[in-house]
Amino acid sequence: MLSTMQDGPLSIAHLLRHGSRVHAASEVVTWTGEGSRRSTYAEVGREAARLANALRGLGVTGDQRVGTFMWNNTEHLVAYLAVPAMGAVLHTLNLRLFPEQLTYIVNHAEDHVILVDASVTPLLAKVLPTFTTVRHVVVVNGDKAALSAPDGVTVHSYAELLAGQPDEFDWPVVDEHSAAAMCYTSGTTGNPKGVVYSHRSIWLHSMQVCMTDSMAVSQSDRALVIVPQFHAMAWGMPYAAFMVGASLIMPDRFLQPAPLAAIIAAEKPTMTGAVPTIWQGLLAHLTEHPQDLTPLGDVIVGGSACPPALMQAFDELGVTIIHAWGMTETSPLGSVSRPPAGLDPKQAWEYRVLQGRFPASVRARLIDDDGAELPWDGQTVGELEVAGPWVTASYYQLEAGGDGAEKFHDGWLRTGDVGTITPDGFLRLTDRSKDIIKSGGEWISSVDLENEVMAHPAVAEAAVIGVPDEKWDERPLVAVVLREGQQAAPEELREFLADKVAKWQVPENWTFVEEVPKTSVGKFDKKRLRAAFAEGRLDIRHLS
Ligand code: AMP
Repeated sequence: MLSTMQDGPLSIAHLLRHGSRVHAASEVVTWTGEGSRRSTYAEVGREAARLANALRGLGVTGDQRVGTFMWNNTEHLVAYLAVPAMGAVLHTLNLRLFPEQLTYIVNHAEDHVILVDASVTPLLAKVLPTFTTVRHVVVVNGDKAALSAPDGVTVHSYAELLAGQPDEFDWPVVDEHSAAAMCYTSGTTGNPKGVVYSHRSIWLHSMQVCMTDSMAVSQSDRALVIVPQFHAMAWGMPYAAFMVGASLIMPDRFLQPAPLAAIIAAEKPTMTGAVPTIWQGLLAHLTEHPQDLTPLGDVIVGGSACPPALMQAFDELGVTIIHAWGMTETSPLGSVSRPPAGLDPKQAWEYRVLQGRFPASVRARLIDDDGAELPWDGQTVGELEVAGPWVTASYYQLEAGGDGAEKFHDGWLRTGDVGTITPDGFLRLTDRSKDIIKSGGEWISSVDLENEVMAHPAVAEAAVIGVPDEKWDERPLVAVVLREGQQAAPEELREFLADKVAKWQVPENWTFVEEVPKTSVGKFDKKRLRAAFAEGRLDIRHLS
């Protein structure tokens, strides 16, 4: 028997119409360095219509890809809405990719138009001649003369292109399963892999982002979006905010600790989200320049494991870090760590440091090396696999037999993350499968060691990699960044770990570095750390 329910597509066009009408007075605020510029959601809706009309004029008539090479700002939000709503596909380009990777992803996705922030035109200029399908570049917030066009490409000014365009657009009805946006992930080996989100997946994911036990975005929030819009759809915050009428605060290119602190003081966000390294930097700044952070409540931290010491430090500032896990492949929200009800603070803490609980829509399982399913007992370690309506089922146009295909089997995504799941559905990641250290046949979690070392007061950052060892096959090497003006010898750090990890896990190899190399999205880049080790560029102290 079929239901009697109506069937209408979940679409970005509907989200755009709803947000700009029902939440007309909510606002998007973009930081300019000295202050803010502001637009209401009603104005965003009209600008989205003008952009869609302008893009039609540039030949975007179907599912052409429209790339964005932009920071987090009002115009990027407008593109987030207008491009999918008109039936085209938004392709967010990571500003921090290597030039060859940018060339690869723009040509692989076959971008037709690129919107670029004027402040990053020099970066784009270097690679623009290598793009084979791009016909138009639209310079946002600045002078188009800054960019010279190769043959076959026309450069436009965003302001001029939109001037005089109608404030309305006849948004088409699209199949909810069709592509709305795409994002390439460069986390794995080989070329970046494209993940394509549908209107339906974005819609369902946005509803999840707003759920109370998830990121809890609501109409009363002012959400500061620090996660770049070119990374994993900025964790779903832009669409979720527009859906429920939360105002958005966009930092543009001002992502350093001092301007972030200024934005918080001026715009008073109630929630925000970013990778741990951003919060480490902000914490160091706040220690030197204390400031009242209210009404900031929840800070969602994910993208890499959040050190418990960082959570504690923010607790003391009256701000709650909520730990979450996700991937570009999972839209990205997978799990969020809100402790079960009725626990005392000590018990709740045990849950807060975990990667979080899976929501009903995300199915999860742990798999051993032979593909057998493992129990959810909080003890047994296996590779995490997930499935669900906002988890990708493949990568975009993967060449037959190309690397990447091994990530999918039986309808599940193999995450490459290794950990345990408690009986009540909380994930604890111990490592990436490629980062875990095998010493004398036993596993050592690099993340656990990093968290323990980072709890030392003199340590700003610590990254752990496995290095070859004659006796044990592999042993951990800790790369430590000390806090400014602080000292700690390897012997002291080893002593500090003595009662925190098993004796055989305590590292004997230590190195002190200025900075842990970071990936394009601000995570520890262990590949580069390993290369530095292999090339003998690290000054290593070996404790006997
Ligand atoms: P990306 O697609 O660039 O967002 O990277 C996804 C990967 O980031 C995951 O597969 C994890 O390895 C890592 N990650 C994300 N959130 C967390 C977290 N809370 N703890 C540990 N690792 C995380």
